Amino acid sequence: MRPFAYRRATDAQTAVAALSERPDAMYLGGGTNLVDLMRLGVVSPGALVDVTRVAAGTVEETADGGLLIGAGVRNSDLAAHPAVRRRYPMLVQAVLSGASGQIRNMATVGGNLLQRTRCSYFQDVSKPCNKRRPGSGCPAVEGDHRNLAIIGHSDACVATHPSDMAVALVALGAIVHVEGRHGARRVPMPGLHRLPGDEPERDTVLEPGDLITAVELPALPFTTRSRYRKVRDRASFAFAVVSVAAALDTADGVVRDCRIAFGGIAHVPWRAELAEEALRGAPATAAEFARAADAELTRARPLRENGFKVPLARNVLVRTLTDLVETP
Ligand SMILES: Cc1cc2nc3c(=O)[nH]c(=O)nc-3n(C[C@H](O)[C@H](O)[C@H](O)COP(=O)(O)OP(=O)(O)OC[C@H]3O[C@@H](n4cnc5c(N)ncnc54)[C@H](O)[C@@H]3O)c2cc1C
Ligand code: SF4
Repeated sequence: MRPFAYRRATDAQTAVAALSERPDAMYLGGGTNLVDLMRLGVVSPGALVDVTRVAAGTVEETADGGLLIGAGVRNSDLAAHPAVRRRYPMLVQAVLSGASGQIRNMATVGGNLLQRTRCSYFQDVSKPCNKRRPGSGCPAVEGDHRNLAIIGHSDACVATHPSDMAVALVALGAIVHVEGRHGARRVPMPGLHRLPGDEPERDTVLEPGDLITAVELPALPFTTRSRYRKVRDRASFAFAVVSVAAALDTADGVVRDCRIAFGGIAHVPWRAELAEEALRGAPATAAEFARAADAELTRARPLRENGFKVPLARNVLVRTLTDLVETP
């Protein structure tokens, strides 16, 4: 591993200034993804700016009844917070479905959102990979892509986004607070992560030196009735093959409103807007849930080895929505 300098920032402006001074520096959250990638030689920063004490440990009420979560909040603390547990169960379930207790104790909200893909070619520096080395090619298109994207991918990259938490945040319509070289701004989700197109090296719309300072959850009363369901190859310590985050608001057997997002199927946590549209005003029945899933998944373009994800995504969505109807 390349030797690197270490510095701890205590406020956002100092952190951003530190990266402006050293373009080869990177922010360090819990280090559970970044340090692995440094060991593998995928990234080789000359300096790490520790941001775990910037906006650390705070979950605050917002004026409009939502929550503001500091980027340095550890995943375990987020999942244990009483207001998050009461108001956003899908977020708690998503966080707890990821990694292990030890990793969640280290991992931060900011770092979780910006973790890199688990595509095996990306992590193997002896292989070409357009995301790691632009223009070198994408061996996954013809190679091992069982766990990769079925929707929104390009010839340049068929990777999936790995975060469970991000799927719930996209369904909830979270807003990411960012401090950058030109001041503070807000980035809505979906909208933080980007599809690969012909620039798969860019996972997000963030610019060099941008620091995530917080994530804002809007007030959505019906998200108390929400759920995250994850299908994976083994019961723990595994990334999603397919996952669904869903919230449902029904009255007299009819869907008044809903929020749906998929994980494990795209380069971004995928908000299922066509499915949501199909469901609003429809009877809250398994047949309608299947129709909504089909509306979304008409966009799917599976690869040679991952066509199974299309019916899997459909079934997981139908099951999740049915559970929400059946559970008071
Ligand atoms: C064995 C294993 C299993 C796992 N399983 C799952 C799983 O099932 N589901 C899942 O979702 N995740 C899983 N993970 C991934 C884990 O959730 C992430 O590693 C973790 O959330 C990253 O958070 P971190 O704070 O450690 O980030 P770091 O590793 O510190 O940083 C990740 C990236 O974010 C950048 N960064 C960090 N903080 C900020 C900030 N505030 N602003 C801007 N940039 C920032 C860093 O520069 C780096 O590029 C697993 C990890 C391991 C090792
Ligand atoms: S799918 Fe993306 S990350 Fe994987 S090898 Fe291709 S370009 Fe690299």
